Amino acid sequence: MNDVIIVGGGPAGSAIGSYLSKAGIQNVILEKANHPRPHVGESMVTSSTRVFKELDFLKVLEAEGFVHKYGASWHAPNGSEFAIEFGEFPQEGIDQDYTYHVDRAKLDMLLLKHAESLGSKVYQGVHVSKVLFEDDRAVGVRANIAGQDVDIPARMVVDATGRNTLIGNQLKLKVKDPIFNQYAVHAWFENVDRGEEERTEDFIHIYFLPIERGWVWQIPINNEITSMGVVADRNVFRDFSKDPEGFFWTHINSNPDLARAMAPARQINEFKSEGDYSYSLSKFVGNSYLCIGDAARFVDPIFSSGVSVALYSAKYASERIVKAFETGDFSEEMLAPYETKVRGGVGIWYEFIRLYYKLLPLFTHFIQSKTHRIEVLRLLQGEVYDRGQVPVLDAMRAYIEKVEKSENHLLRAQLTSIPID
Ligand SMILES: Cc1cc2nc3c(=O)[nH]c(=O)nc-3n(C[C@H](O)[C@H](O)[C@H](O)COP(=O)(O)OP(=O)(O)OC[C@H]3O[C@@H](n4cnc5c(N)ncnc54)[C@H](O)[C@@H]3O)c2cc1C
Repeated sequence: MNDVIIVGGGPAGSAIGSYLSKAGIQNVILEKANHPRPHVGESMVTSSTRVFKELDFLKVLEAEGFVHKYGASWHAPNGSEFAIEFGEFPQEGIDQDYTYHVDRAKLDMLLLKHAESLGSKVYQGVHVSKVLFEDDRAVGVRANIAGQDVDIPARMVVDATGRNTLIGNQLKLKVKDPIFNQYAVHAWFENVDRGEEERTEDFIHIYFLPIERGWVWQIPINNEITSMGVVADRNVFRDFSKDPEGFFWTHINSNPDLARAMAPARQINEFKSEGDYSYSLSKFVGNSYLCIGDAARFVDPIFSSGVSVALYSAKYASERIVKAFETGDFSEEMLAPYETKVRGGVGIWYEFIRLYYKLLPLFTHFIQSKTHRIEVLRLLQGEVYDRGQVPVLDAMRAYIEKVEKSENHLLRAQLTSIPID
């Protein structure tokens, strides 16, 4: 019998396979696609570096020549711009002041190969249709191999199926986000004008759109190719439901800086749409199973948090799995500390995202403030899993309250309807 079956070979699945192999726990990764396969989510945050370092994967990223991401820049609809550089707030124990922008097809394939090199048995082109249970204990999976359904037993099952949420759907654990219902349309372009400054041309650029919760990402994939994506509330998208291209260009052209950057651009692949992507499972763990990465929870990608959460949830889940094999206890209670940890970390992102969308100028104000800038950088770095370490979120709340209460406050008109409690 297998020790652990991991369903899904994206960043979460490959990372947990790698951690488990390093700890001497036998594991199998079953991936339905044949890598390389395209995927959204091309810009990292610096927290990812720690996991890549622990897994000895930084050398692979460097050898592949992925674009170094030194910072982020935000562009307001009035043309003003402000930026951060990761070098301002070094990460303890990490001696590089950048993270990466990636072609996810390449990154995910390399991570999967890396997991294999560390000991995971990897099978691609294998679709898992369900997790098998005896009473309420996971005992294996049913996989389709070369057209045949095969039941494969395992001591534990990890769901790393991303937004397919295998266990979430099977056990009806998936809860749609009550606030966010965003939609994105994206494609790759050559010849985007990324600006002239040597360093900022490799930043991620975020352009605010003059609509609630609307923004555009500009991510350099390599010297020639730039990924561009337009994000807006689904209600806005509804007007363009049969015309994603119209949705994309209308919003690009609504921001003069963007329109200028895109004037010389040439599209090189098809538009892809992503919708309904914010949710949480009501629980991430059960007897002999765990859900990690997007298979557990997904929050709005405004701060590029997804891959980092996928990697950290893999790291924290692997720690509990090691404990379970040491003690022979595979119960929900044994695995629960993993859920507490990851819920806490993603909860911090979620609170930050809500405060951000509640009052956009708040973000601008805090990131430019001498008192709060470092704390905001710490949030943006993505390594905080303990709410007590980021009191800046309380300061942001207090600021919003002040704006709400003072009738003549200059920013009052910019408050949105997002609930923050
Ligand atoms: C619009 C948008 C923009 C984003 N931008 C960013 C960004 O800039 N930066 C960032 O860090 N994140 C971003 N994300 C989030 C990021 O894409 C995800 O958080 C990340 O890919 C999660 O990794 P994962 O391994 O959990 O899931 P995935 O990467 O989705 O991997 C899951 C794997 O499981 C496989 N699989 C699924 N079902 C089965 C099955 N039944 N059997 C076998 N295999 C299966 C799939 O083929 C896939 O390879 C964005 C997301 C969206 C929607």
